[in-house]
Amino acid sequence: AAKDAGRGRYRVFSDDLHVAARERNQLEEELRLAIDTGGLQLHYQPVVNTATEEISGFEALMRWNHPKQGWISPEKFVPVAEDAGLIVAMGEWAIRQACRDLARWPKSVRCAVNVSPLQFADPALPGVIADAIAKAGISPERLELEITESVFLDDSEGTDATFAALKAVGVRLALDDFGTGYSSLGYLKNAPFDKIKIDQGFVRGATMPGSRNGAIIAAISSLANALGMDTTAEGVETLDELELIRMHGCSHIQGYIYSKPLSTAEADARLAEGLKARPSGPRAAREPRQ
Ligand code: C2E
Ligand code: MG
Ligand code: MG
Ligand code: MG
Repeated sequence: AAKDAGRGRYRVFSDDLHVAARERNQLEEELRLAIDTGGLQLHYQPVVNTATEEISGFEALMRWNHPKQGWISPEKFVPVAEDAGLIVAMGEWAIRQACRDLARWPKSVRCAVNVSPLQFADPALPGVIADAIAKAGISPERLELEITESVFLDDSEGTDATFAALKAVGVRLALDDFGTGYSSLGYLKNAPFDKIKIDQGFVRGATMPGSRNGAIIAAISSLANALGMDTTAEGVETLDELELIRMHGCSHIQGYIYSKPLSTAEADARLAEGLKARPSGPRAAREPRQ
Protein backbone atom coordinates (compact mmCIF):
# COMPACT_ATOMS: atom_id res chain seq x y z
CA ALA A 1 0.00 0.00 0.00
CA ALA A 2 2.83 2.34 0.90
CA LYS A 3 4.41 1.61 -2.46
CA ASP A 4 1.16 2.39 -4.29
CA ALA A 5 0.79 5.64 -2.39
CA GLY A 6 4.36 6.52 -3.30
CA ARG A 7 3.73 5.82 -6.94
CA GLY A 8 0.54 7.82 -6.84
CA ARG A 9 2.39 10.75 -5.41
CA TYR A 10 5.05 10.43 -8.04
CA ARG A 11 2.46 10.50 -10.81
CA VAL A 12 0.77 13.59 -9.39
CA PHE A 13 4.13 15.33 -9.11
CA SER A 14 5.02 14.40 -12.66
CA ASP A 15 1.63 15.64 -13.96
CA ASP A 16 2.23 18.94 -12.17
CA LEU A 17 5.56 19.25 -13.93
CA HIS A 18 3.90 18.63 -17.27
CA VAL A 19 1.28 21.26 -16.56
CA ALA A 20 3.93 23.76 -15.49
CA ALA A 21 6.00 23.05 -18.62
CA ARG A 22 2.94 23.41 -20.85
CA GLU A 23 1.94 26.70 -19.23
CA ARG A 24 5.49 27.97 -19.66
CA ASN A 25 5.59 26.99 -23.34
CA GLN A 26 2.28 28.71 -23.91
CA LEU A 27 3.45 31.83 -22.09
CA GLU A 28 6.55 31.81 -24.28
CA GLU A 29 4.48 31.63 -27.47
CA GLU A 30 2.19 34.42 -26.26
CA LEU A 31 5.23 36.50 -25.35
CA ARG A 32 6.64 36.09 -28.87
CA LEU A 33 3.32 37.29 -30.23
CA ALA A 34 3.23 40.23 -27.80
CA ILE A 35 6.70 41.33 -28.92
CA ASP A 36 5.65 41.24 -32.58
CA THR A 37 2.32 42.98 -32.05
CA GLY A 38 3.29 45.77 -29.66
CA GLY A 39 1.83 44.07 -26.58
CA LEU A 40 4.65 45.23 -24.32
CA GLN A 41 4.81 48.65 -22.70
CA LEU A 42 7.21 50.57 -20.53
CA HIS A 43 5.96 52.18 -17.36
CA TYR A 44 8.07 54.86 -15.71
CA GLN A 45 8.62 55.25 -11.98
CA PRO A 46 9.92 58.65 -10.79
CA VAL A 47 13.27 58.78 -8.99
CA VAL A 48 13.52 61.76 -6.66
CA ASN A 49 16.64 63.69 -5.66
CA THR A 50 16.72 63.72 -1.85
CA ALA A 51 18.33 67.18 -1.56
CA THR A 52 16.18 69.09 -4.06
CA GLU A 53 13.06 66.92 -3.84
CA GLU A 54 12.76 67.09 -7.60
CA ILE A 55 12.26 64.28 -10.08
CA SER A 56 15.74 63.51 -11.43
CA GLY A 57 14.54 60.75 -13.70
CA PHE A 58 12.55 57.58 -14.12
CA GLU A 59 13.14 53.86 -14.05
CA ALA A 60 11.60 52.12 -17.06
CA LEU A 61 9.75 48.97 -16.01
CA MET A 62 8.40 46.54 -18.56
CA ARG A 63 4.72 45.70 -18.55
CA TRP A 64 2.83 43.01 -20.44
CA ASN A 65 -0.92 43.26 -20.81
CA HIS A 66 -1.78 39.63 -21.53
CA PRO A 67 -4.97 39.17 -23.63
CA LYS A 68 -6.52 36.75 -21.12
CA GLN A 69 -4.58 37.05 -17.88
CA GLY A 70 -4.34 40.85 -17.76
CA TRP A 71 -1.16 42.46 -16.43
CA ILE A 72 1.60 39.92 -15.88
CA SER A 73 4.47 40.88 -13.60
CA PRO A 74 7.99 41.10 -15.04
CA GLU A 75 9.01 38.89 -12.11
CA LYS A 76 7.10 36.20 -14.01
CA PHE A 77 7.71 36.95 -17.69
CA VAL A 78 11.33 38.18 -17.63
CA PRO A 79 12.63 34.74 -16.51
CA VAL A 80 10.55 33.10 -19.30
CA ALA A 81 11.99 35.59 -21.80
CA GLU A 82 15.52 34.86 -20.55
CA ASP A 83 15.07 31.08 -20.90
CA ALA A 84 13.63 31.47 -24.39
CA GLY A 85 16.35 33.89 -25.51
CA LEU A 86 13.70 36.57 -26.12
CA ILE A 87 15.07 39.00 -23.54
CA VAL A 88 17.75 40.35 -25.88
CA ALA A 89 15.18 41.60 -28.42
CA MET A 90 12.83 42.80 -25.66
CA GLY A 91 15.67 44.64 -23.95
CA GLU A 92 16.70 46.31 -27.21
CA TRP A 93 13.10 47.44 -27.74
CA ALA A 94 13.05 48.87 -24.18
CA ILE A 95 16.29 50.82 -24.72
CA ARG A 96 15.05 52.29 -28.02
CA GLN A 97 11.64 53.16 -26.54
CA ALA A 98 13.16 54.81 -23.46
CA CYS A 99 15.50 56.89 -25.66
CA ARG A 100 12.53 58.09 -27.76
CA ASP A 101 10.62 59.05 -24.61
CA LEU A 102 13.69 60.82 -23.17
CA ALA A 103 13.86 62.98 -26.30
CA ARG A 104 10.45 64.46 -25.32
CA TRP A 105 11.31 65.09 -21.66
CA PRO A 106 13.24 67.97 -20.03
CA LYS A 107 17.01 67.66 -20.44
CA SER A 108 17.60 67.28 -16.70
CA VAL A 109 15.48 64.10 -16.66
CA ARG A 110 17.26 60.78 -16.96
CA CYS A 111 15.90 57.33 -17.62
CA ALA A 112 17.18 54.03 -16.27
CA VAL A 113 16.59 50.80 -18.18
CA ASN A 114 17.08 47.31 -16.72
CA VAL A 115 19.58 45.18 -18.60
CA SER A 116 19.46 41.39 -18.28
CA PRO A 117 22.81 39.58 -17.83
CA LEU A 118 22.10 37.86 -21.18
CA GLN A 119 21.87 41.25 -22.92
CA PHE A 120 25.00 42.39 -21.14
CA ALA A 121 26.85 39.34 -22.51
CA ASP A 122 25.75 40.17 -26.08
CA PRO A 123 28.68 41.85 -27.88
CA ALA A 124 26.19 43.86 -29.98
CA LEU A 125 24.81 45.74 -26.91
CA PRO A 126 27.10 48.81 -26.90
CA GLY A 127 26.47 49.35 -30.63
CA VAL A 128 22.70 49.01 -30.20
CA ILE A 129 22.76 51.57 -27.40
CA ALA A 130 24.90 54.03 -29.36
CA ASP A 131 22.50 53.69 -32.30
CA ALA A 132 19.39 54.19 -30.11
CA ILE A 133 20.91 57.33 -28.56
CA ALA A 134 21.94 58.75 -31.93
CA LYS A 135 18.53 58.08 -33.53
CA ALA A 136 16.72 59.72 -30.60
CA GLY A 137 19.17 62.64 -30.60
CA ILE A 138 19.68 62.62 -26.83
CA SER A 139 22.88 62.99 -24.84
CA PRO A 140 24.16 59.61 -23.66
CA GLU A 141 24.47 60.45 -19.95
CA ARG A 142 20.67 60.74 -19.78
CA LEU A 143 20.45 56.98 -20.25
CA GLU A 144 21.33 54.83 -17.26
CA LEU A 145 21.69 51.06 -17.47
CA GLU A 146 20.71 49.03 -14.42
CA ILE A 147 22.86 45.95 -14.10
CA THR A 148 22.83 43.30 -11.39
CA GLU A 149 25.99 41.82 -9.99
CA SER A 150 25.20 38.48 -11.63
CA VAL A 151 27.01 39.85 -14.72
CA PHE A 152 30.24 39.35 -12.78
CA LEU A 153 29.69 35.60 -12.65
CA ASP A 154 30.62 35.43 -16.35
CA ASP A 155 34.14 35.59 -17.76
CA SER A 156 35.72 38.73 -16.45
CA GLU A 157 37.59 39.75 -19.61
CA GLY A 158 34.36 39.96 -21.58
CA THR A 159 32.69 41.80 -18.70
CA ASP A 160 35.52 44.36 -18.44
CA ALA A 161 35.42 44.94 -22.21
CA THR A 162 31.65 45.51 -22.13
CA PHE A 163 31.98 48.02 -19.27
CA ALA A 164 34.68 49.87 -21.18
CA ALA A 165 32.57 49.92 -24.37
CA LEU A 166 29.50 51.22 -22.50
CA LYS A 167 31.52 53.94 -20.79
CA ALA A 168 32.90 54.88 -24.20
CA VAL A 169 29.32 55.33 -25.44
CA GLY A 170 28.83 57.65 -22.46
CA VAL A 171 25.86 56.08 -20.67
CA ARG A 172 25.59 55.92 -16.89
CA LEU A 173 25.75 52.60 -15.07
CA ALA A 174 23.85 51.62 -11.94
CA LEU A 175 24.36 48.51 -9.81
CA ASP A 176 20.82 47.23 -9.17
CA ASP A 177 19.51 45.27 -6.18
CA PHE A 178 22.70 45.85 -4.20
CA GLY A 179 22.84 43.77 -1.06
CA THR A 180 20.87 40.79 -2.36
CA GLY A 181 23.74 38.85 -3.97
CA TYR A 182 27.42 38.60 -3.18
CA SER A 183 27.73 42.39 -2.87
CA SER A 184 31.48 42.11 -3.29
CA LEU A 185 33.45 45.31 -2.76
CA GLY A 186 35.67 44.17 -5.63
CA TYR A 187 32.81 44.92 -8.04
CA LEU A 188 32.60 48.45 -6.71
CA LYS A 189 36.34 48.89 -6.94
CA ASN A 190 36.73 47.69 -10.51
CA ALA A 191 33.50 48.44 -12.35
CA PRO A 192 32.68 52.02 -13.37
CA PHE A 193 29.32 52.44 -11.63
CA ASP A 194 27.74 55.87 -11.24
CA LYS A 195 25.07 54.69 -8.83
CA ILE A 196 24.25 51.95 -6.35
CA LYS A 197 20.61 50.97 -5.93
CA ILE A 198 19.96 49.68 -2.43
CA ASP A 199 17.51 46.83 -2.61
CA GLN A 200 14.09 47.37 -1.10
CA GLY A 201 14.71 44.44 1.22
CA PHE A 202 16.85 46.81 3.31
CA VAL A 203 14.26 49.58 3.31
CA ARG A 204 11.45 47.23 4.33
CA GLY A 205 11.52 46.87 8.08
CA ALA A 206 14.27 49.46 8.53
CA THR A 207 11.99 51.53 10.77
CA MET A 208 11.18 48.60 13.06
CA PRO A 209 12.72 48.79 16.54
CA GLY A 210 16.02 46.92 16.70
CA SER A 211 16.38 46.62 12.91
CA ARG A 212 19.94 46.57 11.59
CA ASN A 213 18.85 47.69 8.12
CA GLY A 214 19.33 51.38 8.85
CA ALA A 215 22.99 50.80 9.77
CA ILE A 216 23.51 48.85 6.54
CA ILE A 217 21.82 51.57 4.44
CA ALA A 218 23.98 54.23 6.13
CA ALA A 219 27.16 52.23 5.49
CA ILE A 220 26.32 51.62 1.81
CA SER A 221 25.53 55.31 1.23
CA SER A 222 28.71 56.50 2.89
CA LEU A 223 30.77 53.98 0.91
CA ALA A 224 29.08 55.05 -2.33
CA ASN A 225 29.57 58.70 -1.45
CA ALA A 226 33.28 58.15 -0.79
CA LEU A 227 33.57 56.43 -4.16
CA GLY A 228 31.80 59.33 -5.89
CA MET A 229 28.67 57.30 -6.64
CA ASP A 230 25.01 58.16 -6.14
CA THR A 231 22.67 55.91 -4.14
CA THR A 232 19.00 55.23 -4.72
CA ALA A 233 16.96 53.63 -1.97
CA GLU A 234 14.35 51.43 -3.65
CA GLY A 235 10.86 50.66 -2.43
CA VAL A 236 10.34 53.55 0.00
CA GLU A 237 6.66 53.35 0.93
CA THR A 238 6.07 55.26 4.17
CA LEU A 239 6.90 58.68 5.60
CA ASP A 240 8.87 57.00 8.38
CA GLU A 241 10.98 55.14 5.83
CA LEU A 242 11.50 58.36 3.88
CA GLU A 243 12.72 60.18 7.00
CA LEU A 244 15.09 57.35 7.83
CA ILE A 245 16.49 57.20 4.30
CA ARG A 246 17.08 60.96 4.31
CA MET A 247 18.90 60.66 7.63
CA HIS A 248 21.12 57.89 6.26
CA GLY A 249 22.27 60.00 3.34
CA CYS A 250 20.93 58.27 0.20
CA SER A 251 21.11 60.76 -2.66
CA HIS A 252 17.96 59.48 -4.39
CA ILE A 253 14.66 57.88 -3.47
CA GLN A 254 12.34 55.68 -5.47
CA GLY A 255 9.14 54.20 -4.15
CA TYR A 256 5.39 54.40 -3.77
CA ILE A 257 5.83 57.26 -1.25
CA TYR A 258 6.46 59.49 -4.27
CA SER A 259 4.85 57.54 -7.08
CA LYS A 260 4.02 54.14 -8.49
CA PRO A 261 5.27 53.38 -12.01
CA LEU A 262 3.33 55.55 -14.51
CA SER A 263 2.17 54.88 -18.05
CA THR A 264 3.89 56.97 -20.72
CA ALA A 265 0.92 59.34 -20.88
CA GLU A 266 0.87 59.67 -17.09
CA ALA A 267 4.64 60.32 -16.99
CA ASP A 268 4.25 63.06 -19.64
CA ALA A 269 1.40 64.61 -17.66
CA ARG A 270 3.40 64.39 -14.43
CA LEU A 271 6.34 66.22 -16.00
CA ALA A 272 4.01 68.90 -17.34
CA GLU A 273 3.21 69.72 -13.67
CA GLY A 274 6.90 70.43 -13.02
CA LEU A 275 9.67 68.45 -11.38
CA LYS A 276 8.85 69.14 -7.72
CA ALA A 277 7.82 65.95 -5.91
CA ARG A 278 5.74 65.59 -2.78
CA PRO A 279 5.55 62.47 -0.62
CA SER A 280 2.11 61.04 -0.02
CA GLY A 281 1.66 57.94 2.02
CA PRO A 282 1.12 56.54 5.49
CA ARG A 283 3.44 57.42 8.33
CA ALA A 284 4.11 53.77 9.18
CA ALA A 285 3.37 50.56 7.30
CA ARG A 286 2.30 48.66 10.40
CA GLU A 287 1.65 49.35 14.04
CA PRO A 288 4.95 49.09 15.90
CA ARG A 289 5.37 45.72 17.55
CA GLN A 290 4.66 45.60 21.29
P1 C2E B 1 13.90 46.21 -10.18
O1 C2E B 1 14.73 46.62 -11.32
O2 C2E B 1 14.58 46.12 -8.85
O3 C2E B 1 12.68 47.24 -10.14
C1 C2E B 1 12.09 47.73 -8.97
C2 C2E B 1 10.79 47.03 -8.66
O4 C2E B 1 10.29 47.53 -7.42
C3 C2E B 1 9.69 47.28 -9.68
O5 C2E B 1 8.90 46.11 -9.77
C4 C2E B 1 8.88 48.40 -9.02
O6 C2E B 1 7.54 48.49 -9.49
C5 C2E B 1 8.95 47.96 -7.59
N1 C2E B 1 8.71 49.06 -6.65
C6 C2E B 1 9.08 50.35 -6.76
N2 C2E B 1 8.72 51.07 -5.68
C7 C2E B 1 8.12 50.20 -4.83
C8 C2E B 1 7.55 50.34 -3.51
O7 C2E B 1 7.52 51.41 -2.91
N3 C2E B 1 7.03 49.21 -2.96
C9 C2E B 1 7.05 48.01 -3.60
N4 C2E B 1 6.51 46.96 -2.98
N5 C2E B 1 7.59 47.83 -4.84
C10 C2E B 1 8.13 48.92 -5.44
P2 C2E B 1 8.43 45.50 -11.17
O8 C2E B 1 8.08 46.61 -12.10
O9 C2E B 1 7.43 44.46 -10.86
O10 C2E B 1 9.74 44.84 -11.74
C11 C2E B 1 10.32 43.73 -11.08
C12 C2E B 1 11.66 43.37 -11.64
O11 C2E B 1 11.53 42.92 -13.01
C13 C2E B 1 12.63 44.54 -11.73
O12 C2E B 1 13.22 44.77 -10.46
C14 C2E B 1 13.60 44.03 -12.75
O13 C2E B 1 14.52 43.14 -12.16
C15 C2E B 1 12.70 43.25 -13.70
N6 C2E B 1 12.38 44.10 -14.88
C16 C2E B 1 11.42 45.04 -15.04
N7 C2E B 1 11.48 45.61 -16.26
C17 C2E B 1 12.53 45.02 -16.90
C18 C2E B 1 13.13 45.18 -18.20
O14 C2E B 1 12.73 46.03 -19.03
N8 C2E B 1 14.19 44.37 -18.48
C19 C2E B 1 14.68 43.46 -17.60
N9 C2E B 1 15.74 42.68 -17.95
N10 C2E B 1 14.16 43.28 -16.37
C20 C2E B 1 13.10 44.06 -16.02
MG1 MG C 1 15.99 48.07 -11.72
MG1 MG D 1 16.17 47.02 -8.07
MG1 MG E 1 14.57 43.81 -8.14
